Amino acid sequence: MVKEKGLDLFYESVDNRKLCCEIRKVHPMNKMLNTLDGWITGLRRDQTKNREDVTIFQLDHGHGEILKINPIIDWTWDQIQAYIKKNNLPYNSLLDKGFTSIGCEPCTRAIKPGEDLRAGRWWWEQDGNKECGLHIDHK
Ligand code: SF4
Repeated sequence: MVKEKGLDLFYESVDNRKLCCEIRKVHPMNKMLNTLDGWITGLRRDQTKNREDVTIFQLDHGHGEILKINPIIDWTWDQIQAYIKKNNLPYNSLLDKGFTSIGCEPCTRAIKPGEDLRAGRWWWEQDGNKECGLHIDHK
């Protein structure tokens, strides 16, 4: 991919970005999930429109109908922050620098005041489905 399209291909088009995510994230994840009976995620419903229909327990249609558990799907951002504070949990220090959602380094930036919490992911893409493909339901 890099030989044909260059190191920074993901900035050039959504298709290139999706290709990179497919090769670097989705394929390795699929390989691992193929060996498992289920997995647990940190998905939350308020993260993106695509996650509005996600439930706590799901059959993962994209990965051989294994069990997919999303225990904090109903939690809001504020609830998460309050829980961390109340229980003095460790968290990624980049959060304090405005990184409210973290992906690969070249595709993540800190958000600015007032921006959506996921605005720092693939920030150069203005419209469309800002997902890497790990959580796409292929039903
Ligand atoms: S998030 Fe990672 S896998 Fe996806 S386009 Fe960026 S560098 Fe590639």
